[in-house]
Amino acid sequence: RKTLVGFDYGIKCIALGDSGVGKTSLLQKMGNAKHAMKTTPTVEGIFHSKVLTTSGRKIQLSIWDTAGQETFRSVTRIYYRGASCALLVYDVTRRSSFNSISVWLGDLRDNSSNTKPVLILVANKCDLSKDREVSSTEGNLFAKQHNMSYIETSAEKALNIERVFETLAKDVYHNI
Ligand code: GDP
Ligand code: MG
Repeated sequence: RKTLVGFDYGIKCIALGDSGVGKTSLLQKMGNAKHAMKTTPTVEGIFHSKVLTTSGRKIQLSIWDTAGQETFRSVTRIYYRGASCALLVYDVTRRSSFNSISVWLGDLRDNSSNTKPVLILVANKCDLSKDREVSSTEGNLFAKQHNMSYIETSAEKALNIERVFETLAKDVYHNI
């Protein structure tokens, strides 16, 4: 949690998950239409930002995407720094990406100073139902065990994208 000039809070949210699970696609979709966000490219990656006004409080929310560093498992500490929220994304058609969520959680704990970050488990590529390797039940159970929200999405078909945003806003707000 950080206080910024002109805002009551600055919230940094990062996207984590194996390469190819759909992080960039999801964030691009989230940046569209109703929840339009401003996109800023940096050396470390891209971030999308937006101002939320909830119950009279002005929150500057920024959601960070990697520039592909996760391909080589070389996401830097700078990426994690100050993060109070993480979208943990996996691909429901690739079990290994689901197994990696625990690894990403470990990295988050090791690299972020925030002791109780808001965590949201995102099961992406739900449009590919016949290739599915990880069930809703499994995803839900894992989310419950780690005290996080669970959302099934398809960035491709733009399914449930708004719910990611709404859950994020709600969970972040409750954590303030
Ligand atoms: P990242 O490496 O996690 O940022 O993943 P990308 O967003 O680059 O997506 C990797 C590939 O998966 C691309 O070819 C996307 O078009 C595809 N993809 C992303 N989300 C979905 C989805 O929900 N459904 C399907 N079928 N493909 C997706
Ligand atoms: Mg990407």
